[in-house]
Amino acid sequence: MSDSKGNVRIITLGCAKNEVDSEEIAGVLRSSGHTVDGSQAAEVTIINTCGFLESAKHESIAAIRQAVAEKGNGKVIVAGCLAQRLGSELARLAPGADAYVGVGQMGRFDQVVEHTFAHHEPFIDVEPPHHRWADITTRARTGRPWSAYLKVSEGCDHRCTFCTIPSFRGGHASKPIERVIQEAQHLARTGCKEINLIAQDVTQYGYDLYKEFTLPKLLHQLAEVDGIEWIRILYFYPNRLTDEVIEAIAGLDKVCNYIDIPLQHAHPDTLRRMKRPWDGERYLKIFDKVRARIPNVAIRTTFIVGFPGETNAEFDYLVDFVQEAKLDRVGAFEFSREPGTPSYEMLGQVKKQLKKERYDRLMRAQSSISLAKNKALVRQTLHVLIDEAKDGWIAGRSYRDAPEIDGWVYAQGAAEPGSFAQIQITEAKEHDLIGVLEGHTPARSRMVPLQMATREPR
Ligand code: SF4
Repeated sequence: MSDSKGNVRIITLGCAKNEVDSEEIAGVLRSSGHTVDGSQAAEVTIINTCGFLESAKHESIAAIRQAVAEKGNGKVIVAGCLAQRLGSELARLAPGADAYVGVGQMGRFDQVVEHTFAHHEPFIDVEPPHHRWADITTRARTGRPWSAYLKVSEGCDHRCTFCTIPSFRGGHASKPIERVIQEAQHLARTGCKEINLIAQDVTQYGYDLYKEFTLPKLLHQLAEVDGIEWIRILYFYPNRLTDEVIEAIAGLDKVCNYIDIPLQHAHPDTLRRMKRPWDGERYLKIFDKVRARIPNVAIRTTFIVGFPGETNAEFDYLVDFVQEAKLDRVGAFEFSREPGTPSYEMLGQVKKQLKKERYDRLMRAQSSISLAKNKALVRQTLHVLIDEAKDGWIAGRSYRDAPEIDGWVYAQGAAEPGSFAQIQITEAKEHDLIGVLEGHTPARSRMVPLQMATREPR
């Protein structure tokens, strides 16, 4: 029987919040003597699952079945959202793992592994999520050391009718502000320059602990952390983009002039059925206010098309809104009918084909706006964080590009990944920009090397 302090590999599915959880799990295991190396031959395989949508559920179940089929004498531990959402039902749907543990267990994952070696019976522990924030200094960084997600809170108090997250991530719970600052300092010590703040609703930060919305105060303290050069905020909730928050973004140089604000829709009736705030008119007013205070702000949002009861008129209203709002980045999802959500029972479920047609029409309406926005940057010089260098080309992101979801800036020239470079933009694409590194004379070949910085815009 292999040793309980064996090699561990962690398979992470889902969103950036799960990536952070996996890094915390890896940190806890490393500091208790395990080797977390991701090797196929690992004695312990941890699958950090996603349970947000049916599609993610199927992907997680497939990953569990494969790991169980390959485990031999090793151990398989299922963690994360789907384990929390389904509990023993998941053990029935994907049997053969040695443990099924819910979210919020990062801080005690060494005990979970020990337990699987000490007991033959698989165990299931999906107590209501209680957020044991792991010891920050152990967080094991994966991915690019110069860019990291920092989760400032967990769970959500909103009750959007299409969303399963509160059912398994629980109510909103903020990390104490000192702990967030310590984590940022730890990340800076490990070479991080860009911090991406994440939560289900980042604008609710601190209210549960300090009885006031504390994001502006947090931003001011984060801006004092040496080594951190960019602070990017993801997941604003529409009616919490207050003057104070806008002022903090405008006034703090380190805070990127970038606002990621999922709206989900714009028509007042659709938003009412989604239990989401406000409407398109009020969203346009808030964008006008932000653009007046931060003229070069980049605004990203996401929409759901085909929500139950969405009429042609409601959808046309959404397309008109997109054409008027002229947003920098737009992602969209076809409505996914999630068991256990109020929208699952709603009348007027939209046919799959019509959802697809609406998705395509919305993204077509946005594509010309994205291209026009990018064309307006030609001849400008952007401060770019370099993520990749290959064959005389570099690829990076400007303040307008969040990791993994937005565009890239490509340029001929040489610069160290993880460094910042000045790039003069010479060409615009729908999602990406092409330019020349300041002080570099570009060679004739204009083609960006393939396999460089590819990603699916979302
Ligand atoms: S704000 Fe709405 S969509 Fe976002 S996590 Fe909370 S309930 Fe889900």
